[in-house]
Amino acid sequence: MDVVITGGAGFIGSNLARALTQHLDIAGVRIIDNFATGTKDNLTGLDAQLFEGDVQDPALLDSAFDGADAVVHLAALPSVPRSLRDPIASHHANATGTLQVLEAARRAGNLHVIAASSSSVYGATPALPKHEDLPTVPMSPYAVTKLATEAYLTAYHHSFDLPVLPLRFFNVYGPGQRADHPYAAVIPRWIHAALNGHPATVYGDGTQTRDFTYVGTVTALITDALLRQVAHPTPVNLAFGTRTSLLDLAAELRTALGTPLALQHEPGRPGDVPHSQADPTRLRALFPDIAPASLRSGLQGTVTWHQ
Ligand code: NAD
Repeated sequence: MDVVITGGAGFIGSNLARALTQHLDIAGVRIIDNFATGTKDNLTGLDAQLFEGDVQDPALLDSAFDGADAVVHLAALPSVPRSLRDPIASHHANATGTLQVLEAARRAGNLHVIAASSSSVYGATPALPKHEDLPTVPMSPYAVTKLATEAYLTAYHHSFDLPVLPLRFFNVYGPGQRADHPYAAVIPRWIHAALNGHPATVYGDGTQTRDFTYVGTVTALITDALLRQVAHPTPVNLAFGTRTSLLDLAAELRTALGTPLALQHEPGRPGDVPHSQADPTRLRALFPDIAPASLRSGLQGTVTWHQ
């Protein structure tokens, strides 16, 4: 099986590429990336074919998809704050990019397309845990682009019989997730702060909760989806129903680091959702063999990588 990963030079994409290249049933891995947020360093030592460019380029997509069996579409401009600063750029990369990927998948003979949506689509919906049939109330342009991503997959299933799997990622963390940019996620930011003797910034009072998933669990699940050609016409949460407050996360990180971690509070950020916890019923039904890594073991691996 030959697999294309869009956004393969990014955090999740490069972890997935590494996992797939080590799998006996995967013959080849191709990566499409324009290095908007990903890095060439992430591809060091990786046995994958690189197609450098933008997912909005149909000719590039056609050459990368030629003879492939499946596409894992991860390319996007992530981050809520980034989309508040430049909503149009997020829309082009994330929504238009997804549409171009689906069109190219269709031209290439209806390839299996797995794509990353985000728990941010639930937005202001207060119900917990979040199950996929809840209304979506996006609170940021980023969330809208992810809603468009999953809606396009559903539409391509109904319109063109394309085998699709829209996955709503919650908070993914692990080795390779960078701290050295303004839109860094909480776990790499805090580990980086602790290792440099700085306090960790908390936006808000720290009681907000998140459902963290280790990147190794995500790559195992996507690998399983590729090999078994798992398709689902509507979105599937990709998280296992854990609920960790940021204050509890700080305590877990102190254990993993073996050092103190001081917290410094700043006002909450617009577009941030207060609580996030997945209902994993649909995920567990589709992927009965995937067991998630615990937060403790995942943080340990992540801290080691940062060190
Ligand atoms: P990342 O920024 O590390 O990776 C995204 C990759 O896409 C980068 O390598 C970037 O260069 C590439 N890219 C961006 N725009 C592109 C374009 N127009 N053409 C080609 N390549 C382009 O982010 P990540 O954390 O690895 O996220 C991967 C996917 O998962 C994204 O779609 C993101 O929205 C989604 N997601 C991630 C999380 C998380 O917790 N990390 C949560 C929800 C959803």
